Amino acid sequence: MEAKTFQQGIHPHYNKELTNQKPLHRAEDPEEVLIPIQQHIGAPAQLIVEVGDEVAVGEKIAEAGGFVSANIHSSVAGEVTAIEEKNEQVVVKIKNDGSTKQKTNLEAHDSLADVTSSDIRDIIQEAGIVGLGGATFPSHVKVSIPEDKNVDTVILNGAECEPYLTIDHRMMVEMAEKVLFGLEAIMKAADAQKGYIGIEVNKPDAIEKMREITSDQSNIEVVPLKVKYPQGGEKQLIESVLEKEVPSGGLPLDIGVVVNNIGTAVAITEAITEGKNLFERAVTVTGAVNNPQNLIAKVGTPIEELIEQCDGFKGQPGKVIMGGPMTGKAQNRLDNPITKGTSGILVLDEEETKDYSEAGPCIRCANCVDVCPINLVPTRLVNLVKEDMIEEAEEDGLMDCIECGSCSYVCPSNIELVQRIKLGKEKLRAKKREQ
Ligand code: SF4
Ligand code: SF4
Repeated sequence: MEAKTFQQGIHPHYNKELTNQKPLHRAEDPEEVLIPIQQHIGAPAQLIVEVGDEVAVGEKIAEAGGFVSANIHSSVAGEVTAIEEKNEQVVVKIKNDGSTKQKTNLEAHDSLADVTSSDIRDIIQEAGIVGLGGATFPSHVKVSIPEDKNVDTVILNGAECEPYLTIDHRMMVEMAEKVLFGLEAIMKAADAQKGYIGIEVNKPDAIEKMREITSDQSNIEVVPLKVKYPQGGEKQLIESVLEKEVPSGGLPLDIGVVVNNIGTAVAITEAITEGKNLFERAVTVTGAVNNPQNLIAKVGTPIEELIEQCDGFKGQPGKVIMGGPMTGKAQNRLDNPITKGTSGILVLDEEETKDYSEAGPCIRCANCVDVCPINLVPTRLVNLVKEDMIEEAEEDGLMDCIECGSCSYVCPSNIELVQRIKLGKEKLRAKKREQ
């Protein structure tokens, strides 16, 4: 079958060979974790522990602050030693006592036949599961379908188009049954009849494995996708798999589709079958480290400990990024903890670090226009934002930008287009709040 794809996009260096054949394995637990109480899109969670409290692995330490919010659980057993502010966030510091004492409010179920769609939504909500591809949108909200909407299709995003990252690839190869169970659970929760797993063709072993275990299921299809960035963007994935377009300003839900990440599907499976809350996740630690790896690490583990477990920096680090090179965030401190949204820790050496301080003038080459998967004119948006013409930028599709960074990647003048567009979006949101 021919691999499918979307219009536009780019072909960055993927560098996945550093870790794509390295099996997932468990990172050593840290002596202390730093757990932020806001690790999701939506309202912050509300603390329910105090300094001096003893907590178990998986115990809830902060309660969702509303429907669009998520519970937060401890990733280790031990004493809460501090509640403090770090990077403008409330974080809970827990000293790991090394025990494996567990606590959960969830029951374990053997099969999907034992749970209703409403049970699945409740389990996802209680487990604090959010989109693990980096979006961190609370997953129970995604499968709570409003009465005026109908979902017929669930797509699992196995594209993993972000360079360097390989955890979704490894999960499809090593945990295929959990991926499939998670997809079926999401389909049941959303009352969808058809499921797809879109996988880029640079993961042939994952395509083969997922095809093998879905071969007797006529309602689930594995779709090979061309290797192109941002193939895993929700709208691009839907365009590729279903040849349907999500309308400007709309959501996949508007055309009857729910998209979820591979890691999210695995977390949903573990919550249903093991009663496990979301307190650890897979992370690719890669780039300029001596032994790049795919680790399963506890939420709240400091970045530096994971780099240490990968035998430290290789050469002089230029930048440490949480996530991938296209959409990740550069870190100012190595004691920052990994969170539910951390799919990777990428170390770039000095040579690989693009220097935006040397940005030149726009030479009107139109490279940014040619690659934009949403058909925006990034250079025009940036100029409108600069002139504070935010309403005009909105009319030109400012809020449709998916912040993929393709425009910045191809700009020969090193203009930070995506950063300026993000700033414009923030300005527009602030203006709307004021109004
Ligand atoms: S304008 Fe937005 S969507 Fe278009 S290439 Fe740039 S970052 Fe991606
Ligand atoms: S890619 Fe850069 S230089 Fe070329 S038109 Fe866009 S902003 Fe201008």
